[in-house]
Amino acid sequence: LGRRDLRPAGTEVSFGPTTIGDGSVAVIAGPCAVESPEQTMATAAVVTEHGAVGLRGGVFKPRTSPHSFQGLRWDGLDLLAEARERTGLPVVTEVVDPEHVKRLAGVVDGLQIGARNMQNFALLTAVGQSGLPVVLKRGFGCTVEETLAAAEYLLLEGNDQVVLCERGIRTFEPSARFTLDLTAVALWKQRTHLPVMVDPSHSGGRPELVGPLSLAAVAAGADALIIDVHLQPEQALCDGAQAIRPQQFADLMARLAPLAAGL
Ligand code: PEP
Repeated sequence: LGRRDLRPAGTEVSFGPTTIGDGSVAVIAGPCAVESPEQTMATAAVVTEHGAVGLRGGVFKPRTSPHSFQGLRWDGLDLLAEARERTGLPVVTEVVDPEHVKRLAGVVDGLQIGARNMQNFALLTAVGQSGLPVVLKRGFGCTVEETLAAAEYLLLEGNDQVVLCERGIRTFEPSARFTLDLTAVALWKQRTHLPVMVDPSHSGGRPELVGPLSLAAVAAGADALIIDVHLQPEQALCDGAQAIRPQQFADLMARLAPLAAGL
């Protein structure tokens, strides 16, 4: 259902007022995890100021270790709703449980299926049935084709509001957290009608890689970026090592603008 020849013009995905896949480069930014009212509102304000068109923020965090911060859960969702109210930015958050879909869908503009759940087929089906826009992140041990097969679970439910997200895969290379696979971006653009997003934060795992990977992703044809921004990365409760600060985000947005305009 996602084959390019079935819809040569491509699919546009609408997160509230934001469109992904219309030829512009949409930047969604925010904290990896929603941590507190102050952090959420201040981060939302600063990414809005610098041109983000969507707010990200995890409230249910599927962490590798059960001892790590698991998210503010439903209290965090209230904070995302308030941030949207204040900034007007559409909000996307990760869903980890099919039972949560309905309640989340009543609040957020888009759902994210995380890398660790890309092949959670019950979750894919439930999110497909919600009809809500969805960012489907590639599992870090999954192939380009397996990701497309996972997307079919969403499309099969009649939901074509699907964005494929490359967020890095496991390779033998240890110098970055994951290896960003730009080949996937090019192949998905050629083979499917779905828009493609890149997450340079989770791929690189280090702030100094976020800029180069973002620029490379746009050059490779990405329709959108999703970027971790934190006011004080050293105090972040989740993935602080990869977050960029507001000034770094502002600098990156300025560098992206001419590239995005020239494509
Ligand atoms: C995230 O974006 O918050 C996240 C956990 O990413 P991933 O699923 O790609 O690891």
